[in-house]
Amino acid sequence: MGIIACKFGGTSTAGADMFKRIAGILQEDPDRRYAVLSAPGRCGDMEKLTDALYRAWRDKDASPAAKRFEAIARGLGIDMDFRKEIDRALHISEAETVSRGEYLCAKLFARFSGMPFVDAADVIRFDGSGRLDDEATVRALGRMAQVYPRAVIPGFYGSGPDGRIVTFPRNGSDITGALVAAGVGAALYENWTDVPGLMTGDPGVTPSARVIPEVSYARMRALAEDGVRVLHPDCLEPVARAGIPTRIRCTLMPDAPGTLVEG
Ligand code: ASP
Repeated sequence: MGIIACKFGGTSTAGADMFKRIAGILQEDPDRRYAVLSAPGRCGDMEKLTDALYRAWRDKDASPAAKRFEAIARGLGIDMDFRKEIDRALHISEAETVSRGEYLCAKLFARFSGMPFVDAADVIRFDGSGRLDDEATVRALGRMAQVYPRAVIPGFYGSGPDGRIVTFPRNGSDITGALVAAGVGAALYENWTDVPGLMTGDPGVTPSARVIPEVSYARMRALAEDGVRVLHPDCLEPVARAGIPTRIRCTLMPDAPGTLVEG
């Protein structure tokens, strides 16, 4: 069908078993050539790794975040040093520190899957005032695609003209995924999340709520403005502009079609 750019959210990277699921999903369709990963999300009584890293910055203590990564790596049979990278970031900035969630997650997945790793700092560009430079970003991603036919890329951050790390707003890996889809000329952006798709209501409140199979970008934008947050609202523009449909899919139900957003 053409290139598929996939983004996997924090629930999809929350543990070793989930890493294996992602690898299976990517293997299942060779068109799934680019994977953007969020940092490991909430799992049992463990907080989001990004929250642990905000705390690491305040307390100047890499341990809790490094331990969470070490446990995931152990479950994958991989021996990797996470602490050194977080400690290094603690000497630089808050943004550098919190970006290590996505950076190390993607590094670990690259090691596990054998896919090449591309640092988001090299392809996601911000201007001097901290605003996304989407033209430079799409150009850099296009160049990346010439060199790497497949790659795993961390979500949530990029770099400014001086090389400093800049982050998107919280849950911003959706934006990275959309930019990657646009930059590599994808035919489809698959956003893998922990819900079965866009629902007619909250299934916790309305048990008869069902998945909406298709919705337009305009409607999705309106829903986002009303506070429906299945996708980050800022991820709609890059893919809508490039005419790339987005499919919201659930990592725990990989055979379910989810919701297609287009037009
Ligand atoms: N890890 C970041 C956050 O917790 C970004 C993301 O998950 O998309 O906000």
